[in-house]
Amino acid sequence: MNTSEKQLFALVDVNNMYVSCERAFNPRLQNIPVVVLSNNDGCVVARSNEVKALGVKMGVPWFQIKDLAKQHNIIALSSNYTLYGDMSNRVMTELREYSPHIEVYSIDESFLSLNGLNGLWNSFTTLGQDIRTTISRNVGLPVCVGIASSKTLSKLANHIAKKRIEFNSVCELSALSTNHIEALFQSIDVSEVWGVGRKISEQLRSMNINSVAELKACSSKNIRSHFGVVMERTVDELNGISCLSLEEVSKAKQQIIVSRSFGKLLLTIDEIAEATASYMTRAAEKLRIQKSLCQSVYVFIQTNPFRGQDKQYSNGCVVPLIEPTNDTRILLDAALKGLTQIYRAGYWYKKSGVMLMALSSENQQRQISLFQTSTTDTVKSNNLMSAIDKLNSIYGRDTLVIGRSGVDKQWSMKAELVSPRYTTNWNELPIALAN
Ligand SMILES: [Mg+2]
Repeated sequence: MNTSEKQLFALVDVNNMYVSCERAFNPRLQNIPVVVLSNNDGCVVARSNEVKALGVKMGVPWFQIKDLAKQHNIIALSSNYTLYGDMSNRVMTELREYSPHIEVYSIDESFLSLNGLNGLWNSFTTLGQDIRTTISRNVGLPVCVGIASSKTLSKLANHIAKKRIEFNSVCELSALSTNHIEALFQSIDVSEVWGVGRKISEQLRSMNINSVAELKACSSKNIRSHFGVVMERTVDELNGISCLSLEEVSKAKQQIIVSRSFGKLLLTIDEIAEATASYMTRAAEKLRIQKSLCQSVYVFIQTNPFRGQDKQYSNGCVVPLIEPTNDTRILLDAALKGLTQIYRAGYWYKKSGVMLMALSSENQQRQISLFQTSTTDTVKSNNLMSAIDKLNSIYGRDTLVIGRSGVDKQWSMKAELVSPRYTTNWNELPIALAN
Protein backbone atom coordinates (compact mmCIF):
# COMPACT_ATOMS: atom_id res chain seq x y z
CA MET A 1 0.00 0.00 0.00
CA ASN A 2 1.18 3.51 -0.71
CA THR A 3 1.58 5.03 2.74
CA SER A 4 2.48 8.47 1.45
CA GLU A 5 -1.11 8.87 0.33
CA LYS A 6 -3.28 10.42 3.05
CA GLN A 7 -5.81 7.92 4.37
CA LEU A 8 -9.02 8.46 6.29
CA PHE A 9 -10.94 5.75 8.11
CA ALA A 10 -14.18 5.57 10.05
CA LEU A 11 -14.72 2.87 12.63
CA VAL A 12 -18.42 2.27 13.22
CA ASP A 13 -19.18 0.19 16.30
CA VAL A 14 -22.55 -0.82 17.73
CA ASN A 15 -22.87 0.06 21.42
CA ASN A 16 -23.40 -3.04 23.58
CA MET A 17 -24.38 -4.96 20.45
CA TYR A 18 -26.24 -7.97 21.82
CA VAL A 19 -28.11 -5.99 24.48
CA SER A 20 -29.00 -3.32 21.92
CA CYS A 21 -30.39 -5.96 19.53
CA GLU A 22 -32.63 -7.27 22.31
CA ARG A 23 -33.76 -3.74 23.17
CA ALA A 24 -34.58 -2.96 19.55
CA PHE A 25 -37.44 -5.48 19.73
CA ASN A 26 -38.31 -5.24 23.39
CA PRO A 27 -38.49 -1.61 24.50
CA ARG A 28 -39.22 -2.70 28.07
CA LEU A 29 -35.52 -3.54 28.28
CA GLN A 30 -34.57 0.14 27.79
CA ASN A 31 -32.90 1.87 30.73
CA ILE A 32 -32.82 -1.22 32.93
CA PRO A 33 -29.87 -3.54 33.65
CA VAL A 34 -29.68 -6.32 31.01
CA VAL A 35 -27.12 -9.07 30.38
CA VAL A 36 -26.87 -11.62 27.59
CA LEU A 37 -25.50 -15.05 28.51
CA SER A 38 -23.23 -17.37 26.54
CA ASN A 39 -24.26 -20.72 25.09
CA ASN A 40 -26.01 -22.92 27.60
CA ASP A 41 -26.66 -19.83 29.70
CA GLY A 42 -23.23 -20.00 31.31
CA CYS A 43 -21.44 -16.65 31.38
CA VAL A 44 -22.17 -12.99 30.78
CA VAL A 45 -21.16 -12.11 27.20
CA ALA A 46 -22.85 -8.71 26.90
CA ARG A 47 -23.80 -6.02 29.41
CA SER A 48 -25.91 -2.92 29.25
CA ASN A 49 -24.37 0.29 30.62
CA GLU A 50 -26.48 -0.11 33.79
CA VAL A 51 -24.88 -3.52 34.39
CA LYS A 52 -21.39 -2.20 33.66
CA ALA A 53 -22.04 0.50 36.28
CA LEU A 54 -22.82 -2.23 38.83
CA GLY A 55 -19.29 -3.55 38.31
CA VAL A 56 -20.26 -6.79 36.57
CA LYS A 57 -17.29 -7.95 34.52
CA MET A 58 -17.37 -9.53 31.08
CA GLY A 59 -17.28 -13.33 31.15
CA VAL A 60 -18.39 -13.78 34.75
CA PRO A 61 -20.51 -16.93 35.33
CA TRP A 62 -24.20 -16.11 35.73
CA PHE A 63 -24.62 -18.11 38.95
CA GLN A 64 -21.93 -15.96 40.61
CA ILE A 65 -23.98 -12.79 40.21
CA LYS A 66 -27.43 -14.23 40.86
CA ASP A 67 -27.74 -12.41 44.21
CA LEU A 68 -26.66 -9.12 42.71
CA ALA A 69 -29.09 -9.74 39.86
CA LYS A 70 -31.94 -10.24 42.29
CA GLN A 71 -31.03 -7.12 44.23
CA HIS A 72 -30.91 -4.89 41.13
CA ASN A 73 -33.48 -6.69 38.96
CA ILE A 74 -30.95 -7.55 36.28
CA ILE A 75 -32.66 -9.17 33.31
CA ALA A 76 -30.72 -12.08 31.78
CA LEU A 77 -31.28 -13.35 28.26
CA SER A 78 -29.86 -16.32 26.37
CA SER A 79 -27.77 -15.36 23.38
CA ASN A 80 -29.75 -15.22 20.17
CA TYR A 81 -27.06 -15.31 17.48
CA THR A 82 -29.60 -15.66 14.71
CA LEU A 83 -30.97 -12.26 15.66
CA TYR A 84 -27.55 -10.64 16.23
CA GLY A 85 -26.15 -11.96 12.95
CA ASP A 86 -29.12 -10.68 11.00
CA MET A 87 -29.01 -7.28 12.71
CA SER A 88 -25.28 -7.10 11.98
CA ASN A 89 -26.05 -7.79 8.34
CA ARG A 90 -28.53 -4.90 8.31
CA VAL A 91 -25.98 -2.51 9.79
CA MET A 92 -23.39 -3.52 7.18
CA THR A 93 -25.94 -3.04 4.40
CA GLU A 94 -26.60 0.53 5.60
CA LEU A 95 -22.87 1.23 5.83
CA ARG A 96 -22.27 0.12 2.24
CA GLU A 97 -24.41 3.09 1.19
CA TYR A 98 -21.76 5.41 2.63
CA SER A 99 -18.55 3.93 1.27
CA PRO A 100 -17.77 1.24 -1.30
CA HIS A 101 -14.71 0.25 0.74
CA ILE A 102 -15.69 -1.46 3.93
CA GLU A 103 -14.04 -4.08 6.10
CA VAL A 104 -16.35 -6.01 8.37
CA TYR A 105 -14.09 -6.46 11.36
CA SER A 106 -16.46 -8.25 13.69
CA ILE A 107 -20.17 -8.75 14.24
CA ASP A 108 -20.56 -5.17 15.48
CA GLU A 109 -17.60 -3.29 14.04
CA SER A 110 -16.71 -2.10 10.54
CA PHE A 111 -13.96 0.04 9.10
CA LEU A 112 -14.96 2.33 6.24
CA SER A 113 -12.51 4.06 3.94
CA LEU A 114 -13.52 7.72 3.60
CA ASN A 115 -10.91 8.53 0.97
CA GLY A 116 -12.32 10.74 -1.74
CA LEU A 117 -15.63 11.36 0.02
CA ASN A 118 -14.83 14.88 1.32
CA GLY A 119 -16.66 16.58 -1.54
CA LEU A 120 -19.94 14.93 -0.56
CA TRP A 121 -20.19 16.16 3.02
CA ASN A 122 -19.81 19.47 4.90
CA SER A 123 -17.53 17.69 7.30
CA PHE A 124 -16.76 14.13 8.27
CA THR A 125 -18.47 14.75 11.59
CA THR A 126 -21.65 15.44 9.61
CA LEU A 127 -21.09 12.15 7.78
CA GLY A 128 -20.60 10.36 11.12
CA GLN A 129 -23.79 11.87 12.55
CA ASP A 130 -25.68 10.86 9.42
CA ILE A 131 -24.48 7.26 9.80
CA ARG A 132 -25.60 7.33 13.41
CA THR A 133 -29.11 8.62 12.77
CA THR A 134 -29.61 6.38 9.72
CA ILE A 135 -28.66 3.19 11.58
CA SER A 136 -30.77 4.22 14.54
CA ARG A 137 -33.79 4.91 12.31
CA ASN A 138 -33.46 2.02 9.82
CA VAL A 139 -32.05 -0.74 12.02
CA GLY A 140 -32.84 0.45 15.54
CA LEU A 141 -29.31 0.16 16.91
CA PRO A 142 -27.10 2.82 18.57
CA VAL A 143 -23.61 3.24 17.10
CA CYS A 144 -20.53 5.35 17.77
CA VAL A 145 -18.27 6.57 14.98
CA GLY A 146 -14.53 7.28 15.21
CA ILE A 147 -12.85 9.07 12.31
CA ALA A 148 -9.08 9.37 11.89
CA SER A 149 -6.14 8.94 9.54
CA SER A 150 -5.22 5.37 10.55
CA LYS A 151 -7.18 2.33 11.67
CA THR A 152 -5.57 2.37 15.11
CA LEU A 153 -6.49 6.04 15.57
CA SER A 154 -10.04 5.46 14.36
CA LYS A 155 -10.41 2.77 17.04
CA LEU A 156 -9.27 5.29 19.65
CA ALA A 157 -11.56 7.96 18.23
CA ASN A 158 -14.42 5.50 18.60
CA HIS A 159 -13.43 4.88 22.22
CA ILE A 160 -13.50 8.65 22.83
CA ALA A 161 -16.88 8.95 21.10
CA LYS A 162 -18.23 6.30 23.49
CA LYS A 163 -16.74 7.64 26.72
CA ARG A 164 -16.95 11.41 26.25
CA ILE A 165 -20.49 12.66 26.19
CA GLU A 166 -19.48 16.03 24.65
CA PHE A 167 -18.71 14.30 21.34
CA ASN A 168 -22.30 13.15 20.92
CA SER A 169 -21.21 9.67 19.72
CA VAL A 170 -19.03 10.89 16.82
CA CYS A 171 -15.36 11.80 17.22
CA GLU A 172 -13.48 13.12 14.20
CA LEU A 173 -9.97 13.09 15.57
CA SER A 174 -8.45 14.73 12.52
CA ALA A 175 -10.61 17.83 13.13
CA LEU A 176 -9.32 18.41 16.66
CA SER A 177 -6.37 20.60 17.60
CA THR A 178 -3.05 18.96 18.46
CA ASN A 179 -3.41 20.12 22.06
CA HIS A 180 -6.89 18.70 22.38
CA ILE A 181 -5.74 15.32 21.02
CA GLU A 182 -2.73 15.33 23.34
CA ALA A 183 -4.95 16.00 26.38
CA LEU A 184 -7.34 13.21 25.38
CA PHE A 185 -4.51 10.75 24.77
CA GLN A 186 -2.97 11.56 28.15
CA SER A 187 -6.21 10.55 29.80
CA ILE A 188 -6.53 7.19 28.05
CA ASP A 189 -4.78 4.10 29.40
CA VAL A 190 -2.27 2.51 27.03
CA SER A 191 -4.14 -0.81 27.23
CA GLU A 192 -6.98 0.78 25.22
CA VAL A 193 -4.77 0.90 22.12
CA TRP A 194 -5.77 -1.63 19.46
CA GLY A 195 -3.41 -4.60 19.60
CA VAL A 196 -1.99 -3.78 23.01
CA GLY A 197 -3.02 -6.76 25.12
CA ARG A 198 -2.59 -7.32 28.81
CA LYS A 199 0.94 -8.70 28.49
CA ILE A 200 2.26 -5.86 26.34
CA SER A 201 0.61 -3.19 28.49
CA GLU A 202 2.31 -4.67 31.58
CA GLN A 203 5.66 -4.51 29.80
CA LEU A 204 4.95 -0.96 28.67
CA ARG A 205 4.06 0.04 32.22
CA SER A 206 7.38 -1.35 33.46
CA MET A 207 9.00 1.01 30.94
CA ASN A 208 6.90 3.85 32.40
CA ILE A 209 4.66 4.09 29.35
CA ASN A 210 1.17 4.34 30.84
CA SER A 211 -0.96 6.47 28.57
CA VAL A 212 -1.72 6.56 24.86
CA ALA A 213 0.15 9.88 24.69
CA GLU A 214 3.27 8.27 26.15
CA LEU A 215 3.18 5.39 23.68
CA LYS A 216 2.61 7.79 20.81
CA ALA A 217 5.69 9.79 21.86
CA CYS A 218 7.95 6.71 21.82
CA SER A 219 10.56 6.24 19.17
CA SER A 220 9.16 3.56 16.91
CA LYS A 221 12.63 2.07 16.47
CA ASN A 222 12.94 1.68 20.22
CA ILE A 223 9.54 0.03 20.41
CA ARG A 224 10.51 -2.25 17.56
CA SER A 225 13.60 -3.47 19.40
CA HIS A 226 11.49 -4.36 22.45
CA PHE A 227 8.26 -5.63 20.88
CA GLY A 228 8.87 -6.23 17.19
CA VAL A 229 7.48 -4.86 13.98
CA VAL A 230 3.77 -5.10 14.84
CA MET A 231 4.09 -2.70 17.79
CA GLU A 232 6.34 -0.43 15.74
CA ARG A 233 3.50 -0.13 13.27
CA THR A 234 1.11 0.62 16.13
CA VAL A 235 3.26 3.59 17.18
CA ASP A 236 3.41 4.81 13.58
CA GLU A 237 -0.35 4.45 13.32
CA LEU A 238 -0.80 6.48 16.52
CA ASN A 239 1.19 9.21 14.80
CA GLY A 240 -1.17 9.24 11.87
CA ILE A 241 0.94 7.13 9.52
CA SER A 242 -1.44 4.56 8.11
CA CYS A 243 0.26 1.14 8.01
CA LEU A 244 -2.75 -1.17 8.14
CA SER A 245 -4.78 -1.19 4.99
CA LEU A 246 -8.48 -1.86 4.91
CA GLU A 247 -8.32 -5.29 3.31
CA GLU A 248 -5.97 -6.80 5.84
CA VAL A 249 -7.66 -9.67 7.61
CA SER A 250 -7.41 -8.89 11.29
CA LYS A 251 -7.01 -11.31 14.11
CA ALA A 252 -10.50 -11.46 15.54
CA LYS A 253 -10.70 -13.19 18.85
CA GLN A 254 -14.44 -13.50 19.21
CA GLN A 255 -15.18 -14.02 15.55
CA ILE A 256 -13.22 -15.46 12.65
CA ILE A 257 -14.00 -14.00 9.26
CA VAL A 258 -12.77 -15.22 5.90
CA SER A 259 -14.16 -13.39 2.94
CA ARG A 260 -12.73 -12.64 -0.48
CA SER A 261 -13.70 -11.26 -3.83
CA PHE A 262 -13.83 -13.92 -6.53
CA GLY A 263 -11.30 -13.92 -9.36
CA LYS A 264 -14.23 -13.33 -11.74
CA LEU A 265 -17.94 -12.72 -11.33
CA LEU A 266 -19.80 -15.93 -10.53
CA LEU A 267 -23.33 -16.85 -11.52
CA THR A 268 -24.09 -20.38 -10.35
CA ILE A 269 -24.49 -21.62 -6.82
CA ASP A 270 -22.08 -24.49 -7.48
CA GLU A 271 -19.19 -22.15 -8.25
CA ILE A 272 -20.00 -19.92 -5.28
CA ALA A 273 -20.35 -22.97 -3.01
CA GLU A 274 -16.91 -24.13 -4.06
CA ALA A 275 -15.34 -20.77 -3.23
CA THR A 276 -17.27 -20.47 0.01
CA ALA A 277 -16.23 -24.01 1.00
CA SER A 278 -12.59 -23.06 0.59
CA TYR A 279 -13.07 -19.95 2.76
CA MET A 280 -14.75 -22.09 5.39
CA THR A 281 -11.91 -24.60 5.24
CA ARG A 282 -9.52 -21.76 5.97
CA ALA A 283 -11.73 -20.35 8.73
CA ALA A 284 -11.93 -23.77 10.40
CA GLU A 285 -8.12 -24.02 10.29
CA LYS A 286 -7.86 -20.63 11.97
CA LEU A 287 -10.40 -21.76 14.56
CA ARG A 288 -8.27 -24.80 15.43
CA ILE A 289 -5.06 -22.74 15.48
CA GLN A 290 -6.50 -20.49 18.18
CA LYS A 291 -7.89 -23.58 19.95
CA SER A 292 -11.51 -22.49 19.81
CA LEU A 293 -14.84 -24.10 19.09
CA CYS A 294 -17.66 -22.45 17.18
CA GLN A 295 -21.39 -22.74 17.65
CA SER A 296 -22.76 -20.42 15.03
CA VAL A 297 -21.89 -19.85 11.38
CA TYR A 298 -22.66 -16.72 9.37
CA VAL A 299 -22.42 -16.80 5.58
CA PHE A 300 -22.93 -13.94 3.14
CA ILE A 301 -22.81 -13.15 -0.59
CA GLN A 302 -22.84 -9.94 -2.59
CA THR A 303 -22.74 -8.58 -6.11
CA ASN A 304 -20.33 -5.86 -7.28
CA PRO A 305 -21.68 -2.40 -6.31
CA PHE A 306 -19.32 -0.76 -8.84
CA ARG A 307 -21.03 -2.40 -11.78
CA GLY A 308 -23.95 -0.04 -12.28
CA GLN A 309 -25.14 -2.10 -15.26
CA ASP A 310 -25.73 -5.16 -13.02
CA LYS A 311 -28.70 -5.89 -10.80
CA GLN A 312 -27.54 -5.67 -7.18
CA TYR A 313 -28.16 -8.16 -4.38
CA SER A 314 -26.56 -8.98 -1.08
CA ASN A 315 -27.67 -11.16 1.76
CA GLY A 316 -26.41 -13.17 4.69
CA CYS A 317 -27.73 -15.61 7.23
CA VAL A 318 -26.82 -17.34 10.44
CA VAL A 319 -26.83 -21.10 10.88
CA PRO A 320 -26.68 -22.21 14.52
CA LEU A 321 -24.99 -25.52 15.35
CA ILE A 322 -26.22 -28.11 17.81
CA GLU A 323 -22.98 -28.06 19.80
CA PRO A 324 -19.64 -26.25 19.70
CA THR A 325 -17.32 -27.77 17.12
CA ASN A 326 -14.10 -27.26 15.18
CA ASP A 327 -14.86 -30.01 12.68
CA THR A 328 -14.50 -28.68 9.15
CA ARG A 329 -17.13 -31.12 7.87
CA ILE A 330 -19.85 -29.81 10.19
CA LEU A 331 -18.87 -26.17 9.59
CA LEU A 332 -18.91 -26.73 5.82
CA ASP A 333 -22.36 -28.26 5.95
CA ALA A 334 -23.63 -25.25 7.91
CA ALA A 335 -22.09 -22.75 5.48
CA LEU A 336 -23.54 -24.50 2.44
CA LYS A 337 -26.93 -24.82 4.08
CA GLY A 338 -26.89 -21.06 4.70
CA LEU A 339 -25.71 -20.34 1.19
CA THR A 340 -28.58 -22.33 -0.29
CA GLN A 341 -30.96 -20.16 1.71
CA ILE A 342 -29.61 -16.80 0.57
CA TYR A 343 -28.54 -17.55 -3.00
CA ARG A 344 -30.77 -16.08 -5.71
CA ALA A 345 -30.30 -17.01 -9.35
CA GLY A 346 -29.73 -14.38 -12.01
CA TYR A 347 -27.13 -12.18 -10.29
CA TRP A 348 -23.43 -11.79 -10.94
CA TYR A 349 -21.77 -12.38 -7.59
CA LYS A 350 -18.50 -10.73 -6.68
CA LYS A 351 -17.82 -11.87 -3.17
CA SER A 352 -18.77 -14.30 -0.46
CA GLY A 353 -17.59 -14.93 3.05
CA VAL A 354 -18.06 -16.80 6.27
CA MET A 355 -17.91 -15.73 9.88
CA LEU A 356 -17.52 -18.13 12.78
CA MET A 357 -19.35 -16.82 15.83
CA ALA A 358 -20.16 -17.85 19.39
CA LEU A 359 -16.60 -19.03 19.91
CA SER A 360 -15.53 -20.77 23.07
CA SER A 361 -12.29 -22.29 24.27
CA GLU A 362 -11.54 -25.88 23.31
CA ASN A 363 -10.45 -26.59 26.89
CA GLN A 364 -13.45 -25.06 28.57
CA GLN A 365 -15.59 -27.60 30.39
CA ARG A 366 -18.57 -28.25 28.18
CA GLN A 367 -22.03 -28.94 29.38
CA ILE A 368 -23.22 -32.24 27.96
CA SER A 369 -26.13 -31.64 25.64
CA LEU A 370 -28.84 -34.17 25.09
CA PHE A 371 -27.77 -34.69 21.52
CA GLN A 372 -24.05 -34.51 22.12
CA THR A 373 -21.80 -36.64 19.97
CA SER A 374 -20.19 -39.44 21.94
CA THR A 375 -16.69 -38.90 23.32
CA THR A 376 -15.24 -41.43 20.88
CA ASP A 377 -16.72 -39.47 17.96
CA THR A 378 -15.17 -36.28 19.30
CA VAL A 379 -11.78 -37.98 19.64
CA LYS A 380 -12.06 -39.38 16.11
CA SER A 381 -12.99 -35.95 14.76
CA ASN A 382 -10.11 -34.28 16.60
CA ASN A 383 -7.65 -36.85 15.27
CA LEU A 384 -8.90 -36.44 11.72
CA MET A 385 -8.74 -32.63 11.89
CA SER A 386 -5.23 -32.55 13.34
CA ALA A 387 -4.06 -35.04 10.70
CA ILE A 388 -5.48 -32.81 7.94
CA ASP A 389 -3.92 -29.67 9.47
CA LYS A 390 -0.56 -31.42 9.74
CA LEU A 391 -0.60 -32.61 6.12
CA ASN A 392 -1.63 -29.20 4.86
CA SER A 393 1.05 -27.44 6.88
CA ILE A 394 3.71 -29.80 5.49
CA TYR A 395 2.55 -30.10 1.88
CA GLY A 396 0.87 -26.73 1.44
CA ARG A 397 -2.62 -25.38 2.00
CA ASP A 398 -5.46 -27.34 0.44
CA THR A 399 -3.38 -30.49 -0.10
CA LEU A 400 -6.12 -32.37 1.65
CA VAL A 401 -9.58 -30.87 1.53
CA ILE A 402 -12.93 -32.23 2.55
CA GLY A 403 -15.56 -32.95 -0.04
CA ARG A 404 -19.06 -31.79 0.69
CA SER A 405 -20.83 -34.25 2.91
CA GLY A 406 -24.47 -34.58 3.87
CA VAL A 407 -26.14 -32.10 6.11
CA ASP A 408 -26.58 -33.23 9.70
CA LYS A 409 -29.90 -32.60 11.29
CA GLN A 410 -29.58 -29.69 13.68
CA TRP A 411 -31.30 -29.42 17.00
CA SER A 412 -31.36 -26.15 18.79
CA MET A 413 -28.95 -25.49 21.62
CA LYS A 414 -30.04 -24.97 25.16
CA ALA A 415 -31.23 -21.42 25.56
CA GLU A 416 -33.99 -21.06 28.08
CA LEU A 417 -34.10 -17.28 28.13
CA VAL A 418 -33.80 -16.71 24.41
CA SER A 419 -35.73 -13.98 22.63
CA PRO A 420 -37.61 -14.73 19.40
CA ARG A 421 -35.81 -14.66 16.05
CA TYR A 422 -37.71 -11.46 15.29
CA THR A 423 -36.17 -10.76 11.92
CA THR A 424 -35.56 -14.16 10.37
CA ASN A 425 -38.50 -16.39 11.24
CA TRP A 426 -42.06 -15.76 10.08
CA ASN A 427 -43.45 -17.43 13.19
CA GLU A 428 -41.49 -15.17 15.51
CA LEU A 429 -42.14 -11.72 14.04
CA PRO A 430 -42.74 -8.98 16.60
CA ILE A 431 -46.43 -8.34 17.21
CA ALA A 432 -47.85 -4.83 17.46
CA LEU A 433 -51.04 -4.45 19.48
CA ALA A 434 -53.40 -1.51 19.00
CA ASN A 435 -55.87 -0.65 21.69
MG1 LIG B 1 -19.51 -2.85 20.13
